[in-house]
Formats: sequence, structure tokens, C-alpha cells
Amino acid sequence: MEEFNGQTVVISGASRGIGKAVSTAFLKQGATVIGIYAGNRDAADAFLKEASEFNGTLQLHQCDVADADQVERFFQKVEEEFDTIDILINNAGIRRDKLLALMDQESWQKVIDINLTGTFCMCRSAVLLMMKQKYGRIINITSPVATIGFAGQTNYGASKAGQIGLTRSLCKETARKKITVNCVSPGFIDTELIDDLSPEQLKEYKKVVPMRRFGKVTEVADAVLFLASRKASYITGTVLDVNGGL
Ligand code: NAP
Repeated sequence: MEEFNGQTVVISGASRGIGKAVSTAFLKQGATVIGIYAGNRDAADAFLKEASEFNGTLQLHQCDVADADQVERFFQKVEEEFDTIDILINNAGIRRDKLLALMDQESWQKVIDINLTGTFCMCRSAVLLMMKQKYGRIINITSPVATIGFAGQTNYGASKAGQIGLTRSLCKETARKKITVNCVSPGFIDTELIDDLSPEQLKEYKKVVPMRRFGKVTEVADAVLFLASRKASYITGTVLDVNGGL
């Protein structure tokens, strides 16, 4: 299947974890992937090297998705080079876990700024480009914490629930322009985002997952590519869970 051959994909958090797997899946199908990363230049360089063997083309740009000016400048460059884009994946995300009573303002604000405001800034610029061609696919990477909650993650849970609210309202604004907006909600996925969990915590969390294992980044990528495909043309405003039955 080369469905994405020639399509242009913007993805945040593209050079590590889930974002790297999603970018790789698009590149293998011949897409042009314009990725964003925060500051880990080594990971970006390593991915650029790996990507040279795929059919598609990869660009990686350093940009803070929470900074509205940086996002606007990034999309100006994208518009100059590509005119429009087909697909946007809002994947960049961070955690700063603390019990609410002990949470400092910075840990609250940073998580909301990157996970939620970042999604807003990216969608705002992308929708304007997609409207030009009356076609688009937006996929926001949320989390089960948005709906089931998790102690120590009030900031993260609020940001992820906010993404779902944004998705459900934005899809109504863009439906007539054939721009769909959906979420993918991965459960526990083996990436550096959960590197800080102790072996005991990992064991406990695996017991909570009905499939008794964590997900692979490629399993999330498969769900993202489905929603980004033309096969998902009548699906908008939904959340697709990829969580082993959580
Ligand atoms: P990860 O391995 O920690 O990678 C995070 C990526 O986001 C990196 O590429 C990072 O760039 C980028 N990033 C962070 N802050 C940014 C900013 N301000 N501007 C631009 N890019 C930024 O994370 P992951 O596990 O792949 O998670 C990806 C998404 O899935 C997140 O939204 C996360 O909340 C969600 N999710 C993950 C899990 C899980 O179990 N892993 C479960 C549910 C949902 P640098 O490389 O430059 O740092």
C-alpha cells in the first residue's frame, strides 16, 4: 500500500518514541514528513541518517510547539516550500508527575503549554493551509488518563482531556472542508516517556493491562495511519484507543 506516496505530513515530536514510529511508517510509504523536535539534536541526526533508506523524504525542524511565534514561522516555511499539507499529527508531549497538593505552578503550566496549547497552535496554522485544498487529516495523540485519571497526573490528564475537547469542537468547524480531526489514545507504550518508572511499577502496570503487556510504537503507528488514510473519510471527532483493553 503506497497510499501516502506524495502526501505531506507534519508531525510534532517526530524524532523519538511514538512520533518516530509514525514518521517511519509514513516514510516507508513514500510520504514527505516534516517533523518537529524540541532540542534533542542527537536523536534528530540519528533519525535523519536512518531515514535515508526509506522511499519518502524527511525534514526535521527544531521548534517549540508551545511557542505560538515559532509555530507560525515554522508553518510559513512549510507553506513557502509545499503550499499546503495533507496530514498533521500532534504527538509532542511531556509529563511532570506530582500529586496536585504538591504541584508547583511550573509543572502545571509547562505540561498544559506543550501538550494542549501546542496542539492548538499547530492546528490553527495547519487548518488554514488544509482549507486551501479542502482536504486534511488531523490526529491528536491523547492518553487514557484523560478519561480514567491517574494519581499524580492532574496536569497531564487535564492537558490530554483538553485535546479531546479541542478535537470534538474543531471537527465540527472543519467537516465541510473535508478535514477530519480525531484522537489516538495509546495506553502504556514502551518509550522514553515512561523510562522513569521503576521495575516494580512496570510490573504492577502490566498487571492492569488485560493483554498483560505494553504496546509497541508500531501498533500506535498503524492506528494513526488508518485515521490518516482515505479509508477513514467518514470518521471524525472520535478517539481511537490503542491500549490492550485498559
Ligand atoms: P517521548 O519518547 O518522550 O518523545 C517526545 C517527543 O516530543 C520528542 O521528540 C520531543 O523532542 C518532543 N517534544 C517534547 N516537547 C516538545 C516541544 N515543546 N516542542 C516540540 N517537540 C517537543 O514521548 P512518547 O512516549 O513517544 O509520547 C508521544 C505522545 O504520546 C505524547 O503526546 C504522549 O503524551 C503520548 N502518550 C504516550 C504514552 C506512552 O506510554 N509512551 C501513552 C499515552 C500517550 P526531543 O526529542 O527534542 O526532546
